[in-house]
Amino acid sequence: MPPLKVLIMDNYGPDFNRVARALRPFGLALMWTESLKDGLNLMAQAKPIMVLAGQNLPELKDPTDLLRVIQAKRLPTQLVVMSPEPNFDQAMDWVAEGVFSVISSPINVERLRKVTQKILDNLSLYESLVETKAKNDKPSELLIYKTLSGHTEVKPMLETICETAMTLTGAGRAQAWTGADLDQISPINVFKGSEKIEGGFEKTLDFHWMGRHLASLKMVFPMGVTQDDMDKDILEELAFAGSLFLSHAVKLDEALVLASKDPLTGLSNRRVFLETLNRDFFQSKRHSSPLTLLTLDLDHFKDVNDTYGHQTGDEILKWLSTVIAGVVRLGDLAARTGGEEFSILLPRTNLEQGLSLAKRLKEALSETPLPENCPPMIRPTISQGLASLEHFLVKEPQDLIYWSDQAMYLAKREGRDTIKQVTELSGNKHYQDVQYVFQ
Ligand code: GH3
Ligand code: MG
Ligand code: MG
Repeated sequence: MPPLKVLIMDNYGPDFNRVARALRPFGLALMWTESLKDGLNLMAQAKPIMVLAGQNLPELKDPTDLLRVIQAKRLPTQLVVMSPEPNFDQAMDWVAEGVFSVISSPINVERLRKVTQKILDNLSLYESLVETKAKNDKPSELLIYKTLSGHTEVKPMLETICETAMTLTGAGRAQAWTGADLDQISPINVFKGSEKIEGGFEKTLDFHWMGRHLASLKMVFPMGVTQDDMDKDILEELAFAGSLFLSHAVKLDEALVLASKDPLTGLSNRRVFLETLNRDFFQSKRHSSPLTLLTLDLDHFKDVNDTYGHQTGDEILKWLSTVIAGVVRLGDLAARTGGEEFSILLPRTNLEQGLSLAKRLKEALSETPLPENCPPMIRPTISQGLASLEHFLVKEPQDLIYWSDQAMYLAKREGRDTIKQVTELSGNKHYQDVQYVFQ
């Protein structure tokens, strides 16, 4: 017996994880969509036992409209409305119409579990589901849903798809990789099983969702296995469930990538910079490994904006970011930390090596042609400041920011298009008492 299904129709957001967590113990298969149209199709096809509908789902004027569909199609479905600001009178009206429950969003995991348990009790199906689960000694569709619903990230999901495919089909080796349509996520490629297996029959499944190619799975079977030995139902269920669960994981991974990047330049944003600085700072201290921070700021950038317009300014910011990305090495972190201010965090790099990177950057900027749509008279320059963990007064991550900023401001004062570094720090703990030397 396939697992019971739950359909969530809501804008994709943090509630997905909470709903997944709340429902995991029940062994239910979760489906998620942001579109009313897809939701209606899924409702009709999958016949979920519960629909969790977000009150603010675009196109959905009134959640009770879904009740009409449920009634018209005689679906075994209970409707639960998730509302960011539940209003008692309105909730009562909905319940009077036939809504099973109204639950506030962000979802309270325990409350959703209670509601779900009630629905399962009402259906009196829960026991038979548990019984089927307990009796289920043959690999089946249930295994697919049960194992895949445990993941919300793409890589472990692909690994589990490989393992599940091997268990269900008897393949000796499985390989899964992300699809070409996922430009936000770095490519992932996972292998499971024995390298040694003599390549016999091969079968490839593709996972698609809403017109996007999410991933592919290749199974290699031992010698003697043929197309006729394939259980088509199982492969179909694997392709469907894999696509469904992967689509959630992909969305979550993409949301994480988008939340970590500066949209104009594609470099890391300030939040990621501060998190990485914090992590690398203490790691470098623990391992007595060097760490240098380079802060840089475009010179007279306001004049560029004022003279040639904001769009030209934006083009220059993108151009600078590309040049920065070209000079940093793998493991360095380049971030846009302010409007026209950038920070480059250089692990395993001392001040001297940091200085040579700053010089390379300066040279690269003078040599790299500007974008075609920029007026030729512009030649942007930057002021750069460096500070390093090797200075004994650098005790906190913030100190590194403070001192590289100070060096950068000195570069500004000394005429811009210059590199300055803090070479020596001595004195008391307080900045105002510190004697420092810039070079
Ligand atoms: P200085 O050499 O002292 O750094 O001079 P400046 O003109 O570069 O510095 P100031 O702080 O006076 O001005 C910074 C300018 O950067 C002002 C603001 O319009 C511009 N800026 C900040 N963010 C953006 C952005 O995203 N796009 C564009 N086009 N301009 C930006
Ligand atoms: Mg500036
Ligand atoms: Mg600035």
